[in-house]
Amino acid sequence: MKSGVPVGQIKGVGPKVVEKLGAMGIYTVDDLVNYFPYRYENYELGDIQRAAHDEKITVEGKVVTGVSVQYYGKMKSRLVFSIQIGSEVLKVSIFGRTFLKKQLEMDTLVTVTGKWDIGRRSITATDVKIGANNGRTIEPVYSLKDIRTPTFQKMIKEALGSGSFLVRDDIPRILQEKYRLISQEDVLAFAHFPKNMEQVRQVQRRVKYEELLKFQLKIQYLRRQIKAKKAGAEKTVDEEKAQKFIDGLPFSLTDAQLRVLKEIKADLLSGSRMNRLLQGDVGSGKTIVAAISLYLVMLAGYQTALMVPTEILGSQHYKSLVELFAPYPEFKIGFLSSSVKGKKRQEILQGLAAGEIHLLIGTHALIQKEVVYKNLGLVITDEQHRFGVNQRRMLREKGEFVDVLMMTATPIPRTLAISAFGDMDVSTINEMPKGRKPVETYLFDTSRLERAMGFIQKTILDKGQQAYVITPLIEESESLDVQNAVEVHALWAHHFKGRAKVGLMHGRLSQAEKDAIMDSFVKNETQILISTTVIEVGVNVPNANLILIYDANRFGLSQLHQLRGRVGRGSEQAYCLLLSDSKTEQSMERLKIMTQTTDGFELSEADLKLRGPGDFFGEKQSGLPVFKMANLVEDYKILEIAMEDARELLSSDEFETNNDFLPLRDYINRTVASEDYQLD
Ligand code: ADP
Ligand code: MG
Repeated sequence: MKSGVPVGQIKGVGPKVVEKLGAMGIYTVDDLVNYFPYRYENYELGDIQRAAHDEKITVEGKVVTGVSVQYYGKMKSRLVFSIQIGSEVLKVSIFGRTFLKKQLEMDTLVTVTGKWDIGRRSITATDVKIGANNGRTIEPVYSLKDIRTPTFQKMIKEALGSGSFLVRDDIPRILQEKYRLISQEDVLAFAHFPKNMEQVRQVQRRVKYEELLKFQLKIQYLRRQIKAKKAGAEKTVDEEKAQKFIDGLPFSLTDAQLRVLKEIKADLLSGSRMNRLLQGDVGSGKTIVAAISLYLVMLAGYQTALMVPTEILGSQHYKSLVELFAPYPEFKIGFLSSSVKGKKRQEILQGLAAGEIHLLIGTHALIQKEVVYKNLGLVITDEQHRFGVNQRRMLREKGEFVDVLMMTATPIPRTLAISAFGDMDVSTINEMPKGRKPVETYLFDTSRLERAMGFIQKTILDKGQQAYVITPLIEESESLDVQNAVEVHALWAHHFKGRAKVGLMHGRLSQAEKDAIMDSFVKNETQILISTTVIEVGVNVPNANLILIYDANRFGLSQLHQLRGRVGRGSEQAYCLLLSDSKTEQSMERLKIMTQTTDGFELSEADLKLRGPGDFFGEKQSGLPVFKMANLVEDYKILEIAMEDARELLSSDEFETNNDFLPLRDYINRTVASEDYQLD
């Protein structure tokens, strides 16, 4: 139970409101006064003569032109008019708000808030109010459920006046002084009723730092704990055999591949559990690194597992690893997914329990309860971002000596890597195998689809290459996806009749059907593969050098990058054709970035900026922390400082003994002990 004065004691807070506050996690007066706005709007009048480009500004002015309404896209509109301030006339535009048109008559006084474009002398408004500003200044924006801001602020005012709360200052004095942070007392005074933007800035500096420091303390503490936990036994590494294996490959490894292998080897030898993220752009050659790691651990006498998000990718890995390990028949390889049933399944399960299967490849079927390993030593997940936090934990728990390596081709911006994987070590393959040419990417609309088909036809017939055609994902409806794919397939099959074979792949097919279709594509019996995004991850057919993506605007940048990564895996020039009829600024901007770079890191940074951290991983992944004020992207610098400070704190002996650090020690104990915070 939480201590503190119940929030119902505040004047004007009745049982109904108590309930609403409870839904927001506010139970005590302490909770209430510490419920900070996540953002502030400044409506203080500014001076356009002094405002910088792109600065947010509020101005009063008189309407001096008629108002025009522009419609574009479906259901979207923009109001445009001009106002006069002193001797200057500015253009104002605001999205939506067509209902304001009638009120914006000539000579009407309006207050406009928005972004100032210094070159165009225009404001892209977020707020247009009829009338004068009336001394409106800074307004906090709270995330409230069913309570109006003025009502909430009244409660806060009462609460602050009541003194029925403790002022807890968690940041140690030494850090407060170092960064000249305001006191917690001032935070409470300024946060809800700031007098000026300077106070807002001071509040934000402190609250953000505190949030990020605590977050870093928590994850670094956890990471130290994982490290301290012995894997039970160090694994021996047979350098000689490893070298022989590498020498037998049809290509030489890149320096980056060799470097990450070294990092992985060091983990295996170390005796503490490996907890490593291996990131490398699509096509950078992660699979072979995985294979070598699996080989090392099998040599050391342990079982291994490779978990992948889709059956298609699973059976592809299975085939290529069976081939790769063919010269080592002492190692038995098994495949498991939900479509492996009956006797076959029993055989696999028994083989695993008896330790007769040394490498198990498959989907998340690998982590089901019934799957029991004899002595699992290494688990690798491919395309790990497709797995949820829980699935990854279950994997780790499959054995006492399990080292974990997670591979991802979605390059994770540094900001998020620290946050989402702060408790992991990271290895990066930052180099492509020699001879790769960047994929050329073109953007076009349906009116030019025929030409694109002609281009594909020519490449297929003249050069003997193959192509993927990706049909759009229709949210929430797999059956519509399939229907769509079937239609696109009919169109292409008709067009290429007698000239090329066109296959169809989608999620509703059985595993055997998928295998047969993929097989026929790998063997170049099928030249064009129409597919939903089921082939998004991992699929590797080096002779396929063309990919056309329908409705590209519906995909996120990272996903487009993944899809594009299906081609350009050999030495031939590859092409990616993005088909989109959407002309909105946002999708044009996104798709243009695709044509400008093939660097996955650059793309993911851009994606992150456009979509925000919450959307970046999708919901499944979202092990991301939630902050009141801090933002993982915007406050990256503070995050870095907090990370360093947390490291220093945890390393110093004083942290355990000096009472200045007691509140932070308490914080760690409370959160780490809380049952809903599980180690990944
Ligand atoms: P990803 O990192 O996207 O999983 P893959 O492991 O599928 O990439 O590798 C892509 C292709 O590059 C494969 O055909 C693989 O055999 C090849 N490859 C991997 N490493 C090298 C290398 N060092 N030199 C040349 N080709 C390589
Ligand atoms: Mg891969």
